[in-house]
Amino acid sequence: MNYSTIQTLDDTKLVKTICTQKSADKNDGVWKYGEEGALQNYEELGRLFGVSTSDIVHVKQTHTAEVRIVTKKDGGEEILRPESVSGYDGMITNEKRLLLCTLQADCVPLFFLDPVQQVIGMIHSGWKGTANQIGVNAVRLMKEAFGCRPSDILAAMGPCICGDCYEVGEELLEQFGVFYSEEERKCFFHKREKEGKYLLDLPEAISISLQREGLKKENITRSFSCTLHDGIFASYRKEKDPVARMLTGIMLI
Ligand SMILES: [Zn+2]
Repeated sequence: MNYSTIQTLDDTKLVKTICTQKSADKNDGVWKYGEEGALQNYEELGRLFGVSTSDIVHVKQTHTAEVRIVTKKDGGEEILRPESVSGYDGMITNEKRLLLCTLQADCVPLFFLDPVQQVIGMIHSGWKGTANQIGVNAVRLMKEAFGCRPSDILAAMGPCICGDCYEVGEELLEQFGVFYSEEERKCFFHKREKEGKYLLDLPEAISISLQREGLKKENITRSFSCTLHDGIFASYRKEKDPVARMLTGIMLI
């Protein structure tokens, strides 16, 4: 299994992270439950982190802005017990050796770590989740449930489609109008020459809302690897492959 890590978080020595890369092996990158090769991939992932598949937790993602707290009893979810929990696209925990995972193919994998309270979060933030503030919801839940201070929280965005590649229609501009001001939207929607087309910079949108929530700018990092134009990570827009996904994960060690 080829993968990258989120250095800014792993450097704290409190967590271990992973972003899987594409490879020539057809089963590598097949992370969807029930697809050929998926369970073997999770077993290999478990070995890499030194945990069993019942210590890996995976919410069933449906492009919501909902975040839940997970514990050891949720381990194995969506891997060993498919369809068990749906309606969430993010999760947080303060339990050690519980590996939180999400799947992406162009969407933003958003990682959180509060090194003070020792709480982590793993969020799938596509355009819908971003427009509806899933990252902010995660921070609020970290505050309420574990007493985290936003100024302590580190956020990191893994590989995703970049602001030069992500072309969207005008209707998205409106969708982002609920939680973002016009001035803010100008920072991450850039008009193309083509009529009604924009380039959308999702990490910038996420960064703006996290700073509004009290995170420090210097504590928010982003990967500059683009899933579409770099060819290292799975891209739905590029490959139109409904199965290949980048798995991203974080675990308190
Ligand atoms: Zn790109």
